[in-house]
Amino acid sequence: MGIDYTDEMENTPIITGSFLQEDAAEKSLRPRFLSDYIGQEKVKNNLAVYIEAAKKRAEPLDHVLLYGPPGLGKTTLAGIIANEMGGNLRITSGPAIEKAGDLAALLTNLSMGDILFVDEIHRLNRSIEEILYPAMEDYALDIIIGKGPSANSIRIDLQGFTLIGATTRAGQLSAPLRERFGVTLKLDLYSPEHLQQIVVRSARIMEVEIDPEGAMEIASRSRGTPRIANRLLRRVRDYAQVCASGVITRKVADEALRMLDIDEIGLDATDRNMLMSIIRNYGGGPVGIDTLAATVGEEAVTLEDVYEPYLLQLGYLSRTPRGRCVTRLAYEHLGLEADYQGQISIPLDG
Ligand code: ADP
Repeated sequence: MGIDYTDEMENTPIITGSFLQEDAAEKSLRPRFLSDYIGQEKVKNNLAVYIEAAKKRAEPLDHVLLYGPPGLGKTTLAGIIANEMGGNLRITSGPAIEKAGDLAALLTNLSMGDILFVDEIHRLNRSIEEILYPAMEDYALDIIIGKGPSANSIRIDLQGFTLIGATTRAGQLSAPLRERFGVTLKLDLYSPEHLQQIVVRSARIMEVEIDPEGAMEIASRSRGTPRIANRLLRRVRDYAQVCASGVITRKVADEALRMLDIDEIGLDATDRNMLMSIIRNYGGGPVGIDTLAATVGEEAVTLEDVYEPYLLQLGYLSRTPRGRCVTRLAYEHLGLEADYQGQISIPLDG
């Protein structure tokens, strides 16, 4: 069981949605209780109420669906919910559950109040998904024994558990599955101020000296994502230890991040390549995501899940029914104001 994290090469890009080997150090950085979880105030306030109510009733928490881009703290929240509720956390993922028996084994091994976390739940096979319906609704498993007219269905009772599903795309969940979650919470990209607090907290745990400006420099180049903030902090720490006095100041952070080719607002080579491709090859857009992915040599899902949320938030990219368009702001950031043709000029004399 557990998420099947494949080995990653040392030089994998920093801005990837996937879990890198170096992220194994994340475990010690994960907040364990709601009070340590920085930002996402709405999500925290809602969860605090639901957790307290469930505890008062001595019942398992309602099933929770968490959605948002990778690295925003979905797995962390599942761990927090388990700690706050006093249950065990079992972690798996949609693609890891290949057979109905795998899911049945997971479910029958849960104890009262346990939390089953299913990452990438939108990738669950539909036939396996159906097993979840009675499990979520009635804490029961319906098992068919035999085939044809003599087939019999028997029902096995399960312990009261909480399913926490995580997905980057709530829209890809089937309606019957989505409807069975009592609580749906959307995680948003973090503000630089919240990321600054996360960097300071992680630096304290890693016993790295950092000043507030140094933390802000890393935060504002982490594209709203705690996992990236922690990754950048590790790289900047290495740089500070080798090339500076070991203390992370704004100047040290800036030098280290420049070396990593991460610009002052957190864009890396792939972001710039993506924007430049749309400008140079498609006149600024619109261009379909599959065509764009083929042009920049990335998978469409990576562009959609990892790169686009931040570019959309910055207002550098817009999504139209006909495809992606680069906005004036992005042209300005890339120093290409003169090439911008997106505005329709209306002659004054009509
Ligand atoms: P996801 O499951 O959404 O991909 P994770 O829960 O694995 O993201 O979070 C990635 C890392 O970011 C965690 O190890 C944790 O250290 C950090 N992190 C995420 N959210 C927060 C938060 N709100 N406060 C502090 N650290 C956080």
